[in-house]
Amino acid sequence: MNFKLPLVQRIAKRRRLQLDPVSYKKLQRAVLKRDGWRCQQCGVRDKLHVHHIQPRSLMGDDAESNLITLCASCHEKIHRSVMGRSHPSQKAKREDLFCS
Ligand SMILES: [Zn+2]
Ligand SMILES: [Zn+2]
Repeated sequence: MNFKLPLVQRIAKRRRLQLDPVSYKKLQRAVLKRDGWRCQQCGVRDKLHVHHIQPRSLMGDDAESNLITLCASCHEKIHRSVMGRSHPSQKAKREDLFCS
């Protein structure tokens, strides 16, 4: 029996941790608190976002260890450089920019 395995791909795509909106809000606050309500890049305390270090599109989890506090401008920069490189063909969507 020579079976192809299309299933493997499908499963690999679905497995990641994603919280419901309420738990995610709580998680965000925990991350902001952990990071002292400061951008971890430049130290600004304004317009803070919570960024997924490993993006959701690449199986990043909604977990404290995968989240970091960034200000709006550092956040945008990271998405332009890092994401731009990993998805050269795909422009960063607005949803990705505000991945909090
Ligand atoms: Zn982000
Ligand atoms: Zn910053």
